[in-house]
Amino acid sequence: MSARLLNGTEIARQVRAELAPRVAAFSARAGRPPGLGILLVGHDPGSEIYVRNKGKAAAELGIRADTERLPHTATLDEVLAIVDRLNKSAVHDGILVQSPLPAEMGSDAEQRVFDTISPAKDVDGFHPVNVGLLVQNRPHLVPCTPLGIIELLVRSETKIAGARAVVIGRSDIVGKPSALLLLHRHATVTICHSKTVNLPAVAAGADILVAAIGRAGFVTRDFVKPGATVIDVGINRVTDPEVARRLLLSTPQRLADFEKKGSVLVGDVHPEVAEVAGVLTPVPGGVGPLTIAMLLGNTVKAAEASIGTR
Ligand code: NDP
Repeated sequence: MSARLLNGTEIARQVRAELAPRVAAFSARAGRPPGLGILLVGHDPGSEIYVRNKGKAAAELGIRADTERLPHTATLDEVLAIVDRLNKSAVHDGILVQSPLPAEMGSDAEQRVFDTISPAKDVDGFHPVNVGLLVQNRPHLVPCTPLGIIELLVRSETKIAGARAVVIGRSDIVGKPSALLLLHRHATVTICHSKTVNLPAVAAGADILVAAIGRAGFVTRDFVKPGATVIDVGINRVTDPEVARRLLLSTPQRLADFEKKGSVLVGDVHPEVAEVAGVLTPVPGGVGPLTIAMLLGNTVKAAEASIGTR
């Protein structure tokens, strides 16, 4: 069997197209476009790319995106002061502080930032109020990657109600909210993590398998029930030639790119899974584009809520 690949880039394009009239309607009514304030601390190369892509996608849709920067030596108080200013801003409906923050800020810095962002502007969906609303199935602003996973499943007409779903990973930003969204759509959900016993056998019971681990090619064919829908959330930069050759054996073009560049992005799912799964999301071009589209959707939603049209 050869899995059907879900084209996340195309689905994200559809989502953005559907947002365009809402952006126009908000702008006409409010006399300004929806606004997103982004804060980037330090010079993490991955974060630079994410922030650039988010800003570009927002601008293309007619959303105002303003990126503020702080050096990696900045203090948590400086970060919180900017968040406070954005909370009060009349032109920013959404606030995004790019993770990770510099390690020197302390292990609880990100949570302090999430706690400080106004729940009404929390387009990442990480504030405890929004987390609580999601747990109670009264969602307002929901984390973007889990929302994107559901969007991929719905638009690929994957049946969620009644399905057995296994989510590997229990992070607050991906694993847990993904499991909750699947549960609220009536899947029977199992959450797995690093202490799960006999993980391949548990995963192999899934009709829908979500891999959000952060380990290149970790999910091999023995994890996958034939015909299952497999959502690969992982984004892993591989620089080890041996690992790259093992993972890219079936995609000679990508292997050639690796040999040229010395690095490649791969998911948590081994390419051999395509021979077993019914549906599979590629990396890149699967969940990633949806994450950005959902961020734009959350910004529009927050903007609409601010003028009472949502
Ligand atoms: P975290 O590191 O926060 O969480 C990883 C989870 O995987 C943990 O729950 C951990 O278990 C589990 N895990 C790690 N090793 C194993 C193992 N050997 N067996 C079973 N479970 C294991 O990562 P995130 O949730 O933030 O991200 C996961 C991946 O998704 C990363 O590759 C990240 O880059 C990617 N990502 C992609 C996005 C996108 O837009 N496509 C957006 C966000 C993330 P435990 O809790 O026991 O430690």
